[in-house]
Amino acid sequence: MIIDGRRVAVPHARVLTWADDRAVIELGENRQRRRARVRAIVLHTTWGQLGPLVLGAGSPAGRGYVAANARATDKSWDFTVDRDGTVFQQNDPARWFTWHAGAANPFSVGIEMVQALTGELYEVQVRAAVELIDALAREFGIARLVPWRRGGPDLRVLPTVRAGRLELLHGLFAHANFTDDRGLGDPGPFAFRVLQATKGWVGVEWGAAGVG
Ligand SMILES: [Zn+2]
Repeated sequence: MIIDGRRVAVPHARVLTWADDRAVIELGENRQRRRARVRAIVLHTTWGQLGPLVLGAGSPAGRGYVAANARATDKSWDFTVDRDGTVFQQNDPARWFTWHAGAANPFSVGIEMVQALTGELYEVQVRAAVELIDALAREFGIARLVPWRRGGPDLRVLPTVRAGRLELLHGLFAHANFTDDRGLGDPGPFAFRVLQATKGWVGVEWGAAGVG
């Protein structure tokens, strides 16, 4: 991937940027200059559907989303993780922020996992997202925290968000942590569970006054 103009390795993932593939068009008008420190990652699914986790890889469908991301005028995101595990990058998140999670945009990076309307995600896709998230956390010094409650990922709108205390947030979040407009399927629990179980990320409960 490309961070602040430099190549940064993402172990165990294949990342294609605008410098690697002419069809992976770098965003233009639908982003803004980054001024705040990057302290959060927001994970999404394209349809917001809660479906099953399927073993293996799915058929690729990400390039259509990549093209749509380049064309859109009202929303955008940084990375697209395809159903076969390929990652597409269209923005340098050290220099610009994209428009994927409202008030969280200025301090976050947005990742979309490609879905069909039926909502399934694939094992290799979730693994690629996990490797990308872990590499971004290392690169930006983002806390390895996942929202957790009652023994599993917390996919509700967080009390911290309801209290308007976004300045307290750091770590990985679900799009559904920020808005009532997206349900549990944006992005579902799988990547959170894998990060907690295999990468040493810590589940924390977010309250109105932050963690704890
Ligand atoms: Zn979303």
